[in-house]
Amino acid sequence: MAFHHAQQVEALNERLSSLKDINVSFEFFPPNSPAMEETLWGSIERLAPLKPKFVSVTYGANSGVRDRTHKVIERIHAETELQAAPHLTLVDASNDELRELARQYWAQGVRHIVALRGDVPAGQPNPNRYAADLVKLLKEEHDFEISVAAYPEVHPEATSAQSDLVNLKRKVDAGANRAISQFFFDIDAYLRYRDRCAAAGIDVEIVPGILPVTNYQQLLKFSDFAKIRVPNWLHHMFDGLDDDPATRKLVGANVAIEMAKVLAKEGVNDFHFYTLNRAEMSYAICHALGVRPGV
Ligand SMILES: Cc1cc2nc3c(=O)[nH]c(=O)nc-3n(C[C@H](O)[C@H](O)[C@H](O)COP(=O)(O)OP(=O)(O)OC[C@H]3O[C@@H](n4cnc5c(N)ncnc54)[C@H](O)[C@@H]3O)c2cc1C
Repeated sequence: MAFHHAQQVEALNERLSSLKDINVSFEFFPPNSPAMEETLWGSIERLAPLKPKFVSVTYGANSGVRDRTHKVIERIHAETELQAAPHLTLVDASNDELRELARQYWAQGVRHIVALRGDVPAGQPNPNRYAADLVKLLKEEHDFEISVAAYPEVHPEATSAQSDLVNLKRKVDAGANRAISQFFFDIDAYLRYRDRCAAAGIDVEIVPGILPVTNYQQLLKFSDFAKIRVPNWLHHMFDGLDDDPATRKLVGANVAIEMAKVLAKEGVNDFHFYTLNRAEMSYAICHALGVRPGV
């Protein structure tokens, strides 16, 4: 039995060492202090040689700081060769404003947008506008490349898993070119979701969103909010490390590399990293996937 398991591990590692044509993308958020700004640009500089397919910059819906997303996008365009995709949410803008913004983005050379609804602020009525509407609106303005969000463990507000899947289909039918998944640790849930998408005729990549874990307590809060299952084994991995960031980082990198191995074995070619503006962990996982400078 032990021998058999060792063979499986060896097979996974062998497969990892023979991977070709893996695409990666990196997600950043706009910094809100000079120190965080420095961290972000250091990370972009470190990750750029890995030639990501694109990098994306989140947008803090309802915070009135869309400008911060634009600034980061502009600087990436000015200083690097990277394709930079702004995230755009519709909850806090009228359709006219969104159309105007789409025109501005196109004029500035933006060709790829991550189109989202955004979270409806607590206490506000549901606007009854959805990401599929934004995809349609953007496509009407220009032929943008569009990425949308997908939820292997179901979006918390969805009435059912099936209706959430139908929603993804609507976004793809409206013109989305790829779906980026919410982060997850339950690999089976992701793989089942991918199968269900294929069966529903959703013919774009469901790119797994990988969240390299460094701050476990924060992860627990995110996961609770987004209704992401945190398996017992993950609790066990990080148990007792609350005051030990160095070990947490090593464990987090190991967890993410193991996940990437299994996903790659299951035929996943595209990986999206929630970098939280830090390069180190994403860089290590890319290295393990054979994504290296100059390759
Ligand atoms: C990769 C990724 C990046 C993100 N980036 C950002 C960001 O930069 N800024 C930010 O604020 N948030 C971001 N989010 C979070 C996202 O805005 C929230 O999860 C939001 O609550 C849903 O956005 P959506 O685009 O998935 O919405 P939608 O696809 O519109 O779905 C929202 C909910 O409505 C349901 N629904 C859809 N259509 C209908 C309909 N016709 N009738 C009834 N129900 C319907 C869906 O099932 C789902 O439950 C991101 C999420 C992901 C996965």
